[in-house]
Amino acid sequence: MVAAPCESACPANVDIPGFIALVAEKRYAEALRLHRERNPFAAVCSRVCFHTCEDKCRRSTIDAPVAIRAIKRFMVDQEITLQVPEIREDPKNAKRKIAIIGAGPAGLTCAYFLARLGYRPEIFEAEQRPGGMLVQAIPAYRLPREVVAREVRMIEQMGVEIITGAALGRDFTLTELRARGYEAIFLGIGAPEGTRLNIPGEDVQGVEDALTFLRTYNVRGSVPVGKRVVIVGGGNSAIDAARTAIRLGAEMVTVVYRRNREAMPAYEEEITEAEAEGVRLQLLTAPVEVLSEAGQVVGLKCVPVQLGEFDRSGRRRPKEAGEAFCIPADQILVAVGQILNLERIIPDIELRRNARGFIDVDPVTGQTSQRWLFAGGDAVTGPASVVEAVAAGERAAVGIDLLLTGQMHAFWRETKPVETSFDPDAEPEATPREMLRLLPVERRRHNFDEVELPWSESIAIRQARRCLRCDYGKRNGTQESVLHQAGEL
Ligand SMILES: Cc1cc2nc3c(=O)[nH]c(=O)nc-3n(C[C@H](O)[C@H](O)[C@H](O)COP(=O)(O)OP(=O)(O)OC[C@H]3O[C@@H](n4cnc5c(N)ncnc54)[C@H](O)[C@@H]3O)c2cc1C
Ligand code: SF4
Repeated sequence: MVAAPCESACPANVDIPGFIALVAEKRYAEALRLHRERNPFAAVCSRVCFHTCEDKCRRSTIDAPVAIRAIKRFMVDQEITLQVPEIREDPKNAKRKIAIIGAGPAGLTCAYFLARLGYRPEIFEAEQRPGGMLVQAIPAYRLPREVVAREVRMIEQMGVEIITGAALGRDFTLTELRARGYEAIFLGIGAPEGTRLNIPGEDVQGVEDALTFLRTYNVRGSVPVGKRVVIVGGGNSAIDAARTAIRLGAEMVTVVYRRNREAMPAYEEEITEAEAEGVRLQLLTAPVEVLSEAGQVVGLKCVPVQLGEFDRSGRRRPKEAGEAFCIPADQILVAVGQILNLERIIPDIELRRNARGFIDVDPVTGQTSQRWLFAGGDAVTGPASVVEAVAAGERAAVGIDLLLTGQMHAFWRETKPVETSFDPDAEPEATPREMLRLLPVERRRHNFDEVELPWSESIAIRQARRCLRCDYGKRNGTQESVLHQAGEL
């Protein structure tokens, strides 16, 4: 049962009022354990989650949403010794062979929940380091690498083996894995390739996709960066590439986007910070041609656009409205979409695709058109979010267990009471929403230090007490704890 609006908005169904209430009582280890019942990546999500929970928070009807992500950040910062969650050992399950392809949040989460059921899945990861986009694309100033490494280590400590440098389609095939006895396979391979602009002149030196730019920097530790960099696109990759280019010494960084700011898919706080760091937004602008001299990019020819009729995505379609102009550039980074080239990775197995061209799965179990093959995360949805990949990994773990045993044993899905004190008759706490402090802009140049700074305990507890406990009385246990507090038991 979903007990509160924040919880129903969370793709992973984390018991949000529960962990907030535990933080308010300084019971940090219990709070973190409760979070990891449904989402192993508490520390990662405390940095990068799009927090749809806050968009739905009922506290907004009084003043402003509870700062759920910031409370989570404080909670995870209190963990000293890495805790593993409850594992139900099962010798029969431990003998079943399960392969997971891709060590991104979807694959790692699938492994995490399978391990909790006593399975010993093996993960095959193409790169040398697990984490997927968390380490290949999202910049370290938003998500420090040790934060990812710690939660990956937790999953390894649960008995999951991660084999790195092993790419499906290059080093092995699904048919070979089946021949080696793997009974179920999960595909968590993401949407790893950037799409092209499809405008004249783009095949010249200095034009590349933003994902390759970010991946090269994050994986190799260095990447060529121009002085005048133009980024095309309005999503996370565009903003992350822009802020990375600024940190690597670009003098002028311009993000060109064909709609208005409100329509930008990137996280609003990231856009604001990008602007504060010196990134220029060129909105309502469409690129029409890459200009070059002697095979090297020198600029991007653009036209101004206006927003016209609504398209099928519910957004207004841009249409040309004015004279073409040129933005000088010695580097253009394209961030207009991501794809999955399934034919190259899986040439041997026929798989049904969904309307967006990604892998089609059963929405409840993650099962593909092959009954032994499951998929989830960006490989199914197209570019989405960490928490959606986490949710998909969990669903597939439950689906795989069902395939192998004929039953569902997902004990973490059972509603558990959280014994905390709450007085439903008390006035809501009058404190306002507070945000995490940020590293001053002048201290962000030329480094990848984390921008969001930790909270003190007093701020975190004050914020946690703003929660209205919308779950009150909807889960066994909350009622009893209130009576206990009132001295009636
Ligand atoms: C620049 C950028 C910024 C983002 N910022 C945010 C953010 O702030 N918040 C948020 O929630 N989401 C963000 N996202 C989206 C988020 O990172 C993804 O939705 C999420 O990582 C998807 O998880 P996944 O496990 O499905 O795929 P991925 O994270 O892409 O992981 C797939 C894994 O599979 C591996 N792999 C691929 N092909 C093979 C193969 N053939 N064989 C073996 N292994 C393979 C890859 O190396 C990778 O490790 C961002 C994405 C990008 C690109
Ligand atoms: S007030 Fe608390 S329980 Fe209610 S939606 Fe907000 S965070 Fe969730």
